[in-house]
Amino acid sequence: MDEGEDQTFGKREEMSVGEAMQGEFRSDPFDLPFEEFCERAVVLREEFELEPEDIPAWECPVHKWALRHGAPCRKTVQRTEICPVCGSYMCPDCKNHAVEVISRITGYLQAVSGWNAGKRQELKDRHRYGGGALR
Ligand SMILES: [Zn+2]
Ligand SMILES: [Zn+2]
Repeated sequence: MDEGEDQTFGKREEMSVGEAMQGEFRSDPFDLPFEEFCERAVVLREEFELEPEDIPAWECPVHKWALRHGAPCRKTVQRTEICPVCGSYMCPDCKNHAVEVISRITGYLQAVSGWNAGKRQELKDRHRYGGGALR
């Protein structure tokens, strides 16, 4: 399981999280099941000392995972999840980040781009989760 492969990284500052994952697995990390893929991506993001805000949704490895695992199921979604890696909205079913979110808060349908709007929500969620991420 854990064989301390981290030491093999010499130039990780120059790599994106996605590239680092490919280096770590030496095979296609996108073959991993979603939850395991996410866990590894979050660990790497923290090793890079990156915040979710630092990762654009379209470069998020989770979004790339979604694209690799088939076409997005739909563009407009009513329910979303927050990506654990980049903090953007994503489709809870296919994990695609390029979604429009239908907000019911305002009482009418409001399309919000998924690319960045999620990050504000993510900040709120951080407080809700108890701030355990703070060192
Ligand atoms: Zn993401
Ligand atoms: Zn979907």
